[in-house]
Amino acid sequence: MASDHFDYLIIGNSTAAIGAVEGIRSIDTARSVAVVALETEHTYSKPLITYYLAGKVDEHNIRYRPRDFYDKMNVTCRLGI
Ligand SMILES: Cc1cc2nc3c(=O)[nH]c(=O)nc-3n(C[C@H](O)[C@H](O)[C@H](O)COP(=O)(O)OP(=O)(O)OC[C@H]3O[C@@H](n4cnc5c(N)ncnc54)[C@H](O)[C@@H]3O)c2cc1C
Repeated sequence: MASDHFDYLIIGNSTAAIGAVEGIRSIDTARSVAVVALETEHTYSKPLITYYLAGKVDEHNIRYRPRDFYDKMNVTCRLGI
């Protein structure tokens, strides 16, 4: 990772990051984008955590973007960093 170069580097893998990725890709599909985040989990809805723990939503519903979101957006994603 240290030797990689990216045009856009987004820190975090949550709501703000998803918005940034989608915003960038809406106007720029050419340049490179990377997401790095402390958490190891793919993006999930924090407001739904309590509902998930209570069994009111399942794992599919708490994740508001598909697993292949970053691939489809042509984004390099490094989680757990
Ligand atoms: C239980 C719960 C219920 C909530 N309910 C609501 C609600 O009903 N309505 C509402 O509007 N909001 C609610 N919120 C707040 C909402 O979830 C946050 O406002 C929103 O998640 C903020 O998004 P964010 O992307 O800015 O930051 P976060 O969601 O906090 O994401 C931060 C990201 O940065 C990463 N990160 C942090 N530090 C580092 C680091 N040093 N290096 C690398 N990566 C790092 C984390 O891993 C994470 O991916 C709730 C939050 C919780 C926890």
